[in-house]
Amino acid sequence: MPRRKHAVVVGGSLAGLLSARVLLDHFEQVTLLERDGFPDDPVPRSGVPQGRHLHVLWEHGRGLIDGLLPGVEADLLAQGAPDLRLPADFLWLTSGGWRRRFDTTRMLTFTRGLLDWAVRRRLFAEPRLAVRTGIEVTGLTGDEAVTGVRYRERGDAARTEERMPADLVVDATGRGSHAPEWLTELGRPLPRETKIDPLLGYASRYYAIPPGFDPGWKALYIQAGPPRGKRTGGLFPQEGGRWICSLSGAGGDYPPTDDEGYLEYARGLRDPVLYEAIKDAEPLTPVVSFRRTANHRRHYDRIRSWPAGFAAIGDSVCAFNPIYGQGITVAAISALELDRMLREDRTTRWFQKRAKRAGAGAWLISTGEDRRYAETQGPPVLPHTRVINAYVDLAVRAANTDPDGCADMLDVLALAKSPTSLFRPAALSRILTNRTRPPVDRPWQPEHASR
Ligand SMILES: Cc1cc2nc3c(=O)[nH]c(=O)nc-3n(C[C@H](O)[C@H](O)[C@H](O)COP(=O)(O)OP(=O)(O)OC[C@H]3O[C@@H](n4cnc5c(N)ncnc54)[C@H](O)[C@@H]3O)c2cc1C
Repeated sequence: MPRRKHAVVVGGSLAGLLSARVLLDHFEQVTLLERDGFPDDPVPRSGVPQGRHLHVLWEHGRGLIDGLLPGVEADLLAQGAPDLRLPADFLWLTSGGWRRRFDTTRMLTFTRGLLDWAVRRRLFAEPRLAVRTGIEVTGLTGDEAVTGVRYRERGDAARTEERMPADLVVDATGRGSHAPEWLTELGRPLPRETKIDPLLGYASRYYAIPPGFDPGWKALYIQAGPPRGKRTGGLFPQEGGRWICSLSGAGGDYPPTDDEGYLEYARGLRDPVLYEAIKDAEPLTPVVSFRRTANHRRHYDRIRSWPAGFAAIGDSVCAFNPIYGQGITVAAISALELDRMLREDRTTRWFQKRAKRAGAGAWLISTGEDRRYAETQGPPVLPHTRVINAYVDLAVRAANTDPDGCADMLDVLALAKSPTSLFRPAALSRILTNRTRPPVDRPWQPEHASR
């Protein structure tokens, strides 16, 4: 039986939805406040502009979400979300060459609107959850502890500010969160922030998968080859017989959005296979772009006077270069930490430390890779980053040619294991054994190997 009275979650994207789910186990009433409206159908919405670009869910994150909201995975599959064998169903050109097509793990792909819709559908069935849309939270109330939020209705010309009391407020408003200012209004210091910006831009477009198309792969992933090769291209199937094509470029090499420029950019990837696939395919949408992709961490864990009654989660705490598809998994891991905070009667300051830890692996992976580009903006590169990157190059090579090396690497990318697991004796030995293996040719056939 829930013990505490009322919790407010600000922001109704995945970090907010998953937080609301765990709070329902601990509070009599949970209120979700969202600035936007929620569509009834699985379509994108303006409050989540990144939702028009490629989104995937690693196996680890998928298990966590389905554990929190049983049935979501079945709903996604029932709606036709492709469940891909990784890397068996892929042609995957890594920075260290082609990856052999072992059957190692799985990856779920979907339009982002579908995932959010499936999560909302399960969550909103809970009668103790009040959902209010068109509500913009403008600040916190309280002093020593946070006691609620200030908000106004969107579209209210008089801009009347109202208050809503709560025993716990969770900020899940994403990269653009105003929580730092809200905290200073309560007399807390501005948090230190770290930004490592690879100047990465995305441009995405949907295509119809040509009828009868069967080249022996289901998805293409052509990664950049830093420091000079800056372009990445992903062509992934989605529900409804569509491909999403997301092209991205680091170091300011942004993909254009006009038809001809987009195709030319795709032709400039490290292998022409993606260009060959889309050049005659029927586009279903215009090209849309997105450039808010910097790694951005707010060091809330370092604020000693962090107030009781307030927690920040998801991209609002730590957002990553999205190319590794880890933000949703980090949100799910953090939601479980929120649950633990409440079960074990820990402080919200404790939670912020755990939230930092939840994002630490993804941060290390994305910022380490981004440091390979000379154009990346941020604090100076530390010497050990170069050493780690040299080791990662060997690990990528092992993952490309050895089934167990591949499993080691994919567990780390899925955030099921910490990046430090690549330094454990078994992984280290595989990496050293495989370091001299020659790169493989483009692997047209999947392999039946591994786990
Ligand atoms: C291009 C791109 C591709 C990505 N691909 C992947 C991927 O493949 N896999 C993956 O795991 N992750 C991916 N991510 C990351 C993923 O999108 C986020 O980590 C995920 O959406 C969780 O974010 P969030 O809920 O913290 O914030 P957001 O998704 O940004 O949502 C914030 C919510 O808060 C609301 N809001 C904002 N301000 C207020 C306010 N004042 N009052 C009320 N409501 C407010 C917004 O309307 C919105 O609904 C990608 C990100 C980008 C940019």
